[in-house]
Amino acid sequence: MNDMLQTAQNTIIKTGKAMGLSQEIIDRLVAPNAVHEFTIEVKMDTGKKRLFSAFRIQHNNNLGPYKGGIRFHQNVSRDEVQALATLMSIKCAVAGLPYGGGKGGIIFNPKEVSEGELARISKAFAKAITPIIGPEVDVPAPDVNTNGQIMKWMTDEYIKNQSSKFKSKYKKTQLSATFTGKMIKEGGTLGRTEATGRGGVAITEALLAKLKKNPSEMKVAVQGFGNVGYYYAKIANEQKMTVVAVSDSKGGITQLQAQSSKFKAERLDIEKIIQCKKEKGEVAGCYCVGGVCDIRQGRKITNEELLELPVDILVPAALENVINKDNMTKIQAKIIIEMANGPVSEEAYNYLTKKGVLIVPDVLANSGGVAVSYLEWYQNMKGQTWTEEKVNKKLHVMMKDAFEEIWKTYIKRKSSLKQAAFETAIGRMIQKINSKS
Ligand code: NAD
Repeated sequence: MNDMLQTAQNTIIKTGKAMGLSQEIIDRLVAPNAVHEFTIEVKMDTGKKRLFSAFRIQHNNNLGPYKGGIRFHQNVSRDEVQALATLMSIKCAVAGLPYGGGKGGIIFNPKEVSEGELARISKAFAKAITPIIGPEVDVPAPDVNTNGQIMKWMTDEYIKNQSSKFKSKYKKTQLSATFTGKMIKEGGTLGRTEATGRGGVAITEALLAKLKKNPSEMKVAVQGFGNVGYYYAKIANEQKMTVVAVSDSKGGITQLQAQSSKFKAERLDIEKIIQCKKEKGEVAGCYCVGGVCDIRQGRKITNEELLELPVDILVPAALENVINKDNMTKIQAKIIIEMANGPVSEEAYNYLTKKGVLIVPDVLANSGGVAVSYLEWYQNMKGQTWTEEKVNKKLHVMMKDAFEEIWKTYIKRKSSLKQAAFETAIGRMIQKINSKS
């Protein structure tokens, strides 16, 4: 069993036991409802057929339709998809959404196929999963290496292959609600691109309010400058926090000195850095480029150094397992916001929590993305189109409510925020079973 699946299941078992649940209920929460494995046959540009292994795992639907992305990657495995489906059940429940958890994947490297081949692979997968998905059954979305264009190919193929009886039950926009993360012109929602970063900042603000800390006094380091890291950094600065370090896969920049948190920090100009990254291809090359050069005392740093800076808030927003047994003793931040999935290993989580570091778990911190996917689904189901402002306001309320519930459990149990998040999620999932029976 892979580490991520083991950790997800261990956390459910540990939380279930602490809640006094029966073994039968714990087993039910651990086991997926359905594991679908497919072999897809696709005609390649050479004219020859190639077989692809693919999965859709439906973990739990106590709270509503299965929800979760589809990943295209050569390292996709059944265990990985099951782990991600399990975590989606927890994440949707944490965010208070009427959704369960699912995940899909195809084992191949999308960078090695042509655009035509990519379209045919996407459509073949959509055709294979057509009987097991639907707007009120299972609602996939983009994940690693999939995007709005791929959702369009899949939505079109799904609608084409769905039975006429099923089609007569729904309007076309409702059928297209089967996939979220669509392009705006295809029924996607405004605000989805920024949602994960925006939601993470809203959660951070809610935590700072509980701790009675002034956001403007918070120095923040963000690892990862992709969709999540960039928007987190940009919006955190807009909300008066002080982002003092950012990085991407090739390294980063900061204006803090290595061992001193006393240096009066100024905000990095995130807009200038993203412009420069577009030109140079990397964040590290953006120290001393154009306007960025006026950042006094700025310097280049490695990704490892970024994690160990004397900041108040550390935001790993790139990869899993970056804070682990090798560097956990060197972490100086007192707050960690897990914007990536699983960036803090189980051992490091326990060690840092014991040391008094508050770690907001991924299932809460990065749930803004799926929360806005829900808002896309809702608009499609109701035939509505909302302004970005309305989406952002709703997201803010959902994130604040999600945080409040978890904080209450955290204070009551004196456990970790992760345990409190899992307890809140499991509580909601089993309450639904109890109210059904
Ligand atoms: P992305 O591909 O847009 O960006 C990833 C960023 O990480 C890039 O800037 C890349 O340069 C950087 N990176 C790669 N290797 C690195 C390394 N060794 N050190 C530092 N930076 C490195 O991906 P994303 O959508 O921003 O997702 C980031 C994380 O957030 C992933 O764990 C993803 O599963 C999770 N997540 C994303 C969303 C979403 O809505 N995009 C939602 C929930 C969770």
